[in-house]
Amino acid sequence: MCRRGPDGLISLLFVKVPMQSLPRPRSLPARTARPRTMLRFTPTAWAKLLFLRDYGSTEVGGFGISAAGDLLLVTDFVLVPQVCSVVTVAFDDVAVADYFDQQLDLGRQLEQVARIWIHTHPGNSAHPSHVDEETFERVFGRSDWAVMVIVACGGESYARLRFQAGPGGSLRLPLEVDFQTPFTASDQAAWEEEYLRCVRSQPGFSFPEDTLCEPRSLEDALGFDHPRQPRRQRHRLPQKPV
Ligand SMILES: [Zn+2]
Repeated sequence: MCRRGPDGLISLLFVKVPMQSLPRPRSLPARTARPRTMLRFTPTAWAKLLFLRDYGSTEVGGFGISAAGDLLLVTDFVLVPQVCSVVTVAFDDVAVADYFDQQLDLGRQLEQVARIWIHTHPGNSAHPSHVDEETFERVFGRSDWAVMVIVACGGESYARLRFQAGPGGSLRLPLEVDFQTPFTASDQAAWEEEYLRCVRSQPGFSFPEDTLCEPRSLEDALGFDHPRQPRRQRHRLPQKPV
């Protein structure tokens, strides 16, 4: 309440009200903040994915390794032997079977190592191509769930979960780098060795270098504001098998 004083100013009167006389607030249901379903990467897994994306001038593909008990947290990105062009990735079937065996030998469950398919696009668009869609359907269509992740050189990313439960369906997933999870240090020497061991360039199938995008740095991808670094020398694929 307020009243005008002798000086013409309005002053406020605060009146004490016994608590008992206040209407009791209706008991509201506790607000249950429904966590958004998103695909998270550990910083190390994300850094490795960007390193391998930018190492050569072709696509590269592999599997995301999920944390035990948290299947939408990617803790590693593992390449399998493959032949790549700027628009395709073809895995070696025997190598994929070997990869599953190795992962199971490490004590991981199949759902941790075979449900998140990740590949890169050397251009700016992360939108799945019709080949991507066909592959996702053919290879993962009978899995109870699977995620297709595409990370483009220009920084765009795409993730979609498809699931069989109930009537089945699919759901776009936001991507996040989760700094709140434990993560290991980067190991670019090991990542480079993995790239050179696994990735072969499809001969006679390339775009002119100047049609490909400029890779973004990890800091750019994470949205950090920092002075632009000089252009990083793009790594070249070896012309001969190593
Ligand atoms: Zn693609």
